[in-house]
Amino acid sequence: MMIPGYYGISGSYLLYFALIMIIPLWAQWKVKSAYGRYKKVKTLSGLTGKEVAEAIMQANGITDVKVVRGEAELSDHYNPSTNTVVLSPIVYSQPTVASVAIAAHEVGHVIQDKVADYKPMRWRHALVPLANLGGNLSMIFIMIGLGLTYLMKSAGSYGITIAWVGVGLMLFAVLFQVVTLPVEFDASKRALEQVTDLGIVNDQERRHCKKVLSAAAMTYVAAALVALMELMRFILIIISSSNNRN
Ligand SMILES: [Zn+2]
Repeated sequence: MMIPGYYGISGSYLLYFALIMIIPLWAQWKVKSAYGRYKKVKTLSGLTGKEVAEAIMQANGITDVKVVRGEAELSDHYNPSTNTVVLSPIVYSQPTVASVAIAAHEVGHVIQDKVADYKPMRWRHALVPLANLGGNLSMIFIMIGLGLTYLMKSAGSYGITIAWVGVGLMLFAVLFQVVTLPVEFDASKRALEQVTDLGIVNDQERRHCKKVLSAAAMTYVAAALVALMELMRFILIIISSSNNRN
């Protein structure tokens, strides 16, 4: 079976696939290099990630969240259902610029949840089941829909409808990636405010923390960009398939 405009390898398609592979790799490289650099730079305060996280929570009156040591590198996250901030071993135990930045960022999420009632975080949370459903089912609907359109002339219009349902499902997954952006940027903004206000970092350390956090944010921007590009691609494929039928 040959779906025109889909399996056809043209220059623009090659460029497209190069972009959706290179953008996330570039962002990952940025975050790994910033992290690699600043995990070697000790802070003057001598506070570990764990101590920074606890200091910020204490200053904000947060008493019901525990800081625990995670297993893998770059596995740092806040888990609202278990009330824990999980910090990777190095972040947890080492007094470095990278540790301060990452620990403060995760507590930024705790503040969004416990203090600020930050709405985009609630939306993001509410989107999780729909985004998972969309991520799992959208491609199946799109492929069945396009397959019907090309294989069976009589079922073509059903095929296009099924493919559009697939795009609708994909929209939830894309929306999740997009809503993640303000949540992540806001957590980093809060992190920098906290470590500055509490005197955890000096001016230079603050700038270095910002570099680590900006690099981390780029991975979310890259993911959202790729998700949007994929959505656009399928919308264009379905429109051209629909036009080919007429
Ligand atoms: Zn985050």
